[in-house]
Amino acid sequence: MYPRIVIDKEKYRQNVRMMKEKLAKKGIALAAVTKVFCAEPALVDVLVEEGVDYIADSRIENLKKVGPRAKRLLLRLPMLSQVEEVVAHSEMALVSEVETLIALEMAAKKLQKKYEVLVMIDLGDLREGVLEKDVDSFFSILPKFENLSIKGIGTNLTCFGGILPTKEALTRLLDVKKHVEATYHLELPIVSGGNSSSLYLLDEDGIPEGINLLRLGESLVLGNDTALLCPIEGLHRDIFTLEAELVEMKTKPSKPWGKQGADAFGNFVTFEDKGPMKRGILAVGKQDVNFSGLTPRENVECIGSSSDHLLLDLKMGDYHLGDIFTFDLDYGALLQLMTSPYVEKAVK
Ligand SMILES: *Cc1c(COP(=O)(O)O)cnc(C)c1O
Repeated sequence: MYPRIVIDKEKYRQNVRMMKEKLAKKGIALAAVTKVFCAEPALVDVLVEEGVDYIADSRIENLKKVGPRAKRLLLRLPMLSQVEEVVAHSEMALVSEVETLIALEMAAKKLQKKYEVLVMIDLGDLREGVLEKDVDSFFSILPKFENLSIKGIGTNLTCFGGILPTKEALTRLLDVKKHVEATYHLELPIVSGGNSSSLYLLDEDGIPEGINLLRLGESLVLGNDTALLCPIEGLHRDIFTLEAELVEMKTKPSKPWGKQGADAFGNFVTFEDKGPMKRGILAVGKQDVNFSGLTPRENVECIGSSSDHLLLDLKMGDYHLGDIFTFDLDYGALLQLMTSPYVEKAVK
């Protein structure tokens, strides 16, 4: 069935293994993030087999699917309306509100379970987290918890504001830890220093001692250094391949003709007249993926798409109806394709 996404499980394993070893040398644990592939069971199996420290996802539905085979970390701040689900199907969550901590404690009591959290600190990216200036007002009003334990702190960068992790910023995070431990008699053994964008610091010795957990998604699945925007040496970048089938191939003019209006999405589009063009239509469209995130492996060019069709300039290539075209994916394209129920997932 096409379109389909072909997943090379062994290449993913090699990426996970290499990164886990690299982090272990610096005393850093690995939380492998599964959200971009919707916690696809075959890849979760790899993570369990490779013994990663945590399986992390932003959706509790995905962690429920993972099951209690590994320690599960919920990445998105829990909704008050779902705290019982959260406690039932994960072992740890990232949290930034006192009210949420209290709700989690109540849910944990009800379910007679112990539950752990990391308190997020916002170091400037302006997504989730307690601001450094508000750390005291946060920790000073915490009630005594019985079923809930605050296991540490964490931060998330390069997500909303595009602010990069630096040695200086991560040192501030460790200062927060020391201050909270000294002032509120809490022990915070875990300090999570960010996502794939923190990896570039490893090579320049920019991760200060004491940062002992990273949460990695994109680096493991696409081999991307998301801070330097370049490949990470030694990691596979072609674990996922989109395959789509040719349903029309004709030589047509390159410029539409007739009275010009908007396209199917209300956009006014213009095309350069390049003369006659050998054009192909693939049976994959915007309902599956935005073509801007696709890079064809064949020598063809994506020229546009509608809900269900992707148009290609086939150049002068020799193709036949029914041929399968293959594409590399960026993070957004991978996210969309894995989420689309119309795209088959084939593990090899
Ligand atoms: C998605 C996410 C990650 C992983 O980010 P990558 O850039 O894919 O490594 C880490 N932490 C949190 C809180 C996230 O939401």
